[in-house]
Amino acid sequence: MAVVLRDVGQYIQGAGELDNLGKFVKKLGNKFLLICSPNNKQRIGDRIETALNSVEKEIVYSEFHNQCTMEAIEKAVADGTAAGCDIIIGAGGGTAIDTAKAVATKMGGIPCVIIPTIASNDAPCAGLSVVYNEEGVVVKVINMVRNPDVVLVDTGVIAQAPRKFLVSGMGDALATYFEARACWRTGARTMARGNCSHTSLAMAKLCYDLLLEHSVKALEAVDRNEVNEDLENVVEACIYLSGFGAICGGLAAAHAINDGLGAVPQIHANGTSHGEKVAFGLIAQLILEKAPEEEWNTVLDYIHAVGLPSTLADLGVTEFVEADIRRAAKIAASPKEFTKNVRADITADEVYEAILAADKAGAAK
Ligand SMILES: [Zn+2]
Repeated sequence: MAVVLRDVGQYIQGAGELDNLGKFVKKLGNKFLLICSPNNKQRIGDRIETALNSVEKEIVYSEFHNQCTMEAIEKAVADGTAAGCDIIIGAGGGTAIDTAKAVATKMGGIPCVIIPTIASNDAPCAGLSVVYNEEGVVVKVINMVRNPDVVLVDTGVIAQAPRKFLVSGMGDALATYFEARACWRTGARTMARGNCSHTSLAMAKLCYDLLLEHSVKALEAVDRNEVNEDLENVVEACIYLSGFGAICGGLAAAHAINDGLGAVPQIHANGTSHGEKVAFGLIAQLILEKAPEEEWNTVLDYIHAVGLPSTLADLGVTEFVEADIRRAAKIAASPKEFTKNVRADITADEVYEAILAADKAGAAK
């Protein structure tokens, strides 16, 4: 198989960059459909409008509410088509961004601009949308014609969001290197439809190194609603490198176990985030891989230092129900899942034992 790299058109990151939006998008389209929640419209809508007006572009607003569902996508497509928009902007967290990417795809692959307002996951740079139903269950994944044309991250905006969002982003990004390494070792096919390359593996390692070095100080900055160099480094890891890594480096057991844990009623009811489940899934992946103790300790120390979950109780499991955890393990080990990228013959029983061992290891530290 070939190595395949698939990246965003332009990635811009820095404090105050939102006000420079016009210069990065002016050649991409003329009438912009802005998809975001009323809350984010209030936060940054005026700045987006001013930036676009400064380069003589029009803007039409399409109100978004919480979930990336087929209904939300179809409503925004109708808004964009009726207004004659030729370019999409998605601003917000993961679901508004995923909706915008799907809308650009459904409108014939027109240009798509992404403005994350939190750094809680790797959605901004990924060239796909995860679509849910009203109950919050994944119904399909829509692949974009190409990755977003522009991803613009104003770290001044990210620094205003509560720390829990950045902690979630750290959990998602923490697994990037280990998942890419698993795919590298087994020759797994990534979502870019090729093998993990030297480039992707090196970028995934850089993601891990930046997190280890800068996360604690980045969180201190967010607590003060300030931008510092540490926050810039961590945001680059959580939004750019983590997204690139997920697509071009590949996913493995950490994300598969996240998918399984999402079906545990207590964890779902707890509102546990994607990144939190991925971080716990990573501990279980390291057990499945029989990772060296030093690596283990480094990952667990990091998880504790930034406040990510390391036990089932942390994820919201107050009462252990064996059948629920066995079902999570079964989902994670199913043939369409990424656990096979660690080793092709991993069974649901092995994943179940790894989850219990991860819980024990997390509690012991
Ligand atoms: Zn993820």
